[in-house]
Amino acid sequence: MGETGICGQTDKIKVSSANLHFGEEPPISGFNGSGTIFLTGCNLNCVYCQNYPISQMQNGREVSPLTLVDSMLRLQELGAHNINFVTPTHFNAQIADAIVAARDRGLKIPIVYNSSGYDRVEVLRMMEGLIEIYMPDMRYGDENAAQCYSSAADYPRINRAAVAEMHRQVGDLQTDENEVATRGLLIRHLVLPNNLSRSEEIFKFISEKISPDTYISLMSQYFPAFRANEYPQISRRITKKEYAVAKKLMEKYNLSNGWFQDEIL
Ligand code: SF4
Repeated sequence: MGETGICGQTDKIKVSSANLHFGEEPPISGFNGSGTIFLTGCNLNCVYCQNYPISQMQNGREVSPLTLVDSMLRLQELGAHNINFVTPTHFNAQIADAIVAARDRGLKIPIVYNSSGYDRVEVLRMMEGLIEIYMPDMRYGDENAAQCYSSAADYPRINRAAVAEMHRQVGDLQTDENEVATRGLLIRHLVLPNNLSRSEEIFKFISEKISPDTYISLMSQYFPAFRANEYPQISRRITKKEYAVAKKLMEKYNLSNGWFQDEIL
């Protein structure tokens, strides 16, 4: 790999960490862990971001493309089930180059694209054939909350198109004999207080436009991090009742695959 990426830009990439991680969904962490590479920065700026030192304050270090490839191979040697790029969107071109180079050097495990779900279809098409597992968020079902809390009024439109494209590329989630993911789509939905994530619109879309077999991780872990206390509607955790309503909505739309996070409440 040369000193410039496939789009001709400088191909330095900023990384916060590259380690085995056991806190992902069961088929991603498996029994040996997910080879998680946290990229610095994010293409959204959520006022409640729990990772704000990395996503908003740019904590991390610049590495060369070769160092990134070395990290991917090291994680494979440690037994990682996959290479899991967290918040990859703004480094897509560099990541695409790194995947090609790592495959040339013997990388065999699947690549996970773990994004905010705010990904343009034309950029995702550039990743086709390089990514085995897409793990996007579906954060907001309407524009108001997307604008208020992430400065991205077009999030619902961009997000739905992105998820449809991801599903077109890789289909529903598949696992091996050890229940470790090999390919497919896994959607994360974070329940926000006061129904600000509009879960019903999201589940209706998934069930009717993607697939009722879609795997969904229904997340209850919201807490008011970063600047959330400046916004009264998101200045508390969610209640058990709010989470139970979201679970019921999954049932209503026949979405039975995935994971719940009740124990955090
Ligand atoms: S998408 Fe995730 S990482 Fe990015 S700013 Fe929002 S909460 Fe933080």
